[in-house]
Amino acid sequence: MSAGIAAGSCTLTQAGAVTDIPLGRKCSVIYTFNTKASDAANLAIPYAVALNGAVQPEYEDKPLSLGSDRKIKLKVAPGSKVALYLNSDAHPGYRTQPVYAVQIGSRDVEVLITERLGRGNTETAVLGPPTCIEEANGRRFDKYDTTLTGDIWMKISHRYTREEANELMPADAAPITRAAVLSIFSPLPSPTLDITFPTSQEKPAHTISLTFHEQQSVNANTSYCPLLQEVLTRTHPLCYLALITEARAAGITKLRVTSAWRPSFGSIVHRAGLGLDVDYVESGGTQLSIARRALSDGSKQSGENVTQEEKQLFDEMKKKQAELSSKKAVAAKCAKAAENSPADASLAEKSRAAAEDAKVAANAANKAKDAWKDTVDRADPALMKSLRTRLSARPDVHQILDPWYMDFDTQDKRPAVPNEHCPGVEKAHSNHLHITIKEPRIL
Ligand SMILES: [Zn+2]
Repeated sequence: MSAGIAAGSCTLTQAGAVTDIPLGRKCSVIYTFNTKASDAANLAIPYAVALNGAVQPEYEDKPLSLGSDRKIKLKVAPGSKVALYLNSDAHPGYRTQPVYAVQIGSRDVEVLITERLGRGNTETAVLGPPTCIEEANGRRFDKYDTTLTGDIWMKISHRYTREEANELMPADAAPITRAAVLSIFSPLPSPTLDITFPTSQEKPAHTISLTFHEQQSVNANTSYCPLLQEVLTRTHPLCYLALITEARAAGITKLRVTSAWRPSFGSIVHRAGLGLDVDYVESGGTQLSIARRALSDGSKQSGENVTQEEKQLFDEMKKKQAELSSKKAVAAKCAKAAENSPADASLAEKSRAAAEDAKVAANAANKAKDAWKDTVDRADPALMKSLRTRLSARPDVHQILDPWYMDFDTQDKRPAVPNEHCPGVEKAHSNHLHITIKEPRIL
């Protein structure tokens, strides 16, 4: 924020009314988001701006997403009213929950929205009175400080009705699968949904038992948000359609969903209701916990779908990668020294030698990676491969991330890459399968 002092009261003085904004000048309105509390400093929240009750034309087809500057900036006439539609409520078909509305007077306005975790927060995305800030150059503006709580995330996350779910599913969805998805939006009477597909000419009878688990992050950040009524219904119907359809095709009889829509935690795709996490699948005699934490756990030699052979090859790859990064750092330092003293032949020679070392290390790291990649492919469980391949081929699926492979765009031509369990998004997917649904009118 620019340096300035609080001017105490926001009551317009006659002088203020005349001098703050010259006649005909527009007021600047800046909303700034701080989502660092949930460890998501760059959370790409979808948004659309309404001016005097009308959503602006640039948001007609779809919302924009908050960028790395964390700001929504606009210029409006004095006396205007500005409000935001956020997250899945910013979808052009919804937009029922305007938030952080501000009545512009004659001064510029800045609104700082800071994410707040925890339960029992009572804020409602309605702004309180502003503080008048006067800068050293005499410019005055109204500053509002407000919060983004789990309850506000609930408010800005669209809750799908049974009718909407029915319309969002394509006409060719199998009738029993469609009925199962609709039952989630009825809502479900218990956290286990049993789906029975009777014998048909093409397939034998098949039962799927789908269980939904409570999510700690929901209960920790909302006042009242029961799983069946409020969480599962804020999750896009196509998430369930994709999962149930492909689970059936892969012969899965039992599966467990550990996360769906959620506020205040992790990626925007879950907060926008476009993601599902699955950590267990079963088919016939095969029971599969979708986890490989042992891979990057220094205290383990094998375990959780990781063989000792794979672990050794993985550790060897990490060792070679560490060697490569230190050789590259040395090479960069030597190159800089040689560049700074072009007349010094010994520095030039040292730089050449360091560059050669780095090249050798890069080859060794590549070789080690190839050796490990072969074992990933061999160790990929057939059931996992079948489910992943089927999900990835669907036009309504956008991302598939799991402990074996990561594919951030299943619709581009690039294949999934092995999950190296690097800190961050890779390691976060060492213990479940994540599915993101494609919905460009939200994200
Ligand atoms: Zn997920």
